[in-house]
Amino acid sequence: MRELRLRVQALEERLRRLEAGRPPAGDGRAAAPRPVRPVRRCAGCGLPLRPRAGRCQECGLPLRP
Ligand SMILES: [Zn+2]
Repeated sequence: MRELRLRVQALEERLRRLEAGRPPAGDGRAAAPRPVRPVRRCAGCGLPLRPRAGRCQECGLPLRP
């Protein structure tokens, strides 16, 4: 009975999306959710790291390997 309940929930979710006029997730028409990549930040200035010649481009802090 648990499977049936999960299935009904999934169908209800789908129905809600259809009623809202949105394609379901994973549908080719919907924009694919972009994977969130963890941003490496500089320990010195706290900005997203843009390395340049082994140093932070913003503050010049040498990068540790
Ligand atoms: Zn920096």
